[in-house]
Amino acid sequence: MNNLSQHNICPVCGSSHFEVFFEMLEMPIFCNVLWPEQKAAQNCDKGDIKLAFCSSCGFIGNVAFDSSLLDYTQAYENSLDFSPKFQEYSLSLAKRLIESHYLHKKDIVEIGCGKGYFLLSLCELGNNRGVGFDPTYVPLSEHEKVKDKVTFVQDYYSEKYAYSDSNFVACRHVLEHIPQPNTMVESLRRAIGSRLQTTIFFEVPNALDTFHNMAIWDIIYEHCCYFTSVCLSYVFTSNGFQVKQTSEEFGGQFLCLEAVPGVSTKEKTKQQSIDLQQLTQDIQKFSSRFASKVEAWQSKLEYITSKNQRTVVWGAGSKGVTFLNLLKNRNDIEFIVDLNPRKQGMYVAGTGQRIVPPSFLQEYQPELIILMNRVYEQEIRQMAADMGISAEFICV
Ligand SMILES: [Zn+2]
Repeated sequence: MNNLSQHNICPVCGSSHFEVFFEMLEMPIFCNVLWPEQKAAQNCDKGDIKLAFCSSCGFIGNVAFDSSLLDYTQAYENSLDFSPKFQEYSLSLAKRLIESHYLHKKDIVEIGCGKGYFLLSLCELGNNRGVGFDPTYVPLSEHEKVKDKVTFVQDYYSEKYAYSDSNFVACRHVLEHIPQPNTMVESLRRAIGSRLQTTIFFEVPNALDTFHNMAIWDIIYEHCCYFTSVCLSYVFTSNGFQVKQTSEEFGGQFLCLEAVPGVSTKEKTKQQSIDLQQLTQDIQKFSSRFASKVEAWQSKLEYITSKNQRTVVWGAGSKGVTFLNLLKNRNDIEFIVDLNPRKQGMYVAGTGQRIVPPSFLQEYQPELIILMNRVYEQEIRQMAADMGISAEFICV
């Protein structure tokens, strides 16, 4: 099914209390596809975001989403692995998972492994064997030397690969792209079958950060689903898993879940009911809080323009792309910095700013740098200081 919901039925719990509360129209279909030409970037395909909320299970999804518009290819580039801060997080996550689940000489599957960095860490640090699945995987020469232990399949994971005898299944930043999350989790449960010792680990963006803490630049077309802990747990417990823990990571921006096969239940704990009530209130206020935040930024940009301050944005990921697309007076910003060399020289979808490496700033000497993610503030300030740039910084 291409779409997420028909007749206002929640795709997660089946409730009919699934109502649209927020719209963001004409946004780029892909934030993370590379555009080598400015005009093509500006004229990229656009789609509507109409978010609905289910007050029964807490699910949030884009009911205008059409997955037939998206085709994940090797031109898709959402790797965050070029940031030392992100590498540090991924590495500490791999170490924690190896330690807490005794992952030594085990078989590990990663669904949606991207370019394979995380799977390689799990396999190298724990001396494990691994299989990674991802249609956007690009064969890399450094993967040659580990090919006896780690293999990559350039395809979506599906039950046809259930033979992969795994003790541990990791899946990071995939579920939010799937219009029918139940179907994916159900199929994973079937693939695991009677291997009841298998542990699964899922990581998604934390929707509480977006809808409670107002990290609004995280709303993108590619993400048709948004999960808080309550709903993410529900997806797994109602599809034959027992959730061992959920945790917020990476400064609260990510939500992690660990589970094992178990008996399906649709019951909520008392704490989950309280969390759901709080989320319901956040959702009711969201549209007006969103509008105020965008307006405040619009005024800030007007002020910056009136002062003729040379300004760049730092971070050409989803947040940077949404930020620029939402602000009407973004044309005063010409450049956006990103550490990922595969993005440099390309253009931002929808608005056409050129993506430049940090070294470009030595020549450009910006007076103001708008940081798209507070988590990277220290590393970016340090990098700028090392290059002799004395710009002012603001975080969105
Ligand atoms: Zn629901």
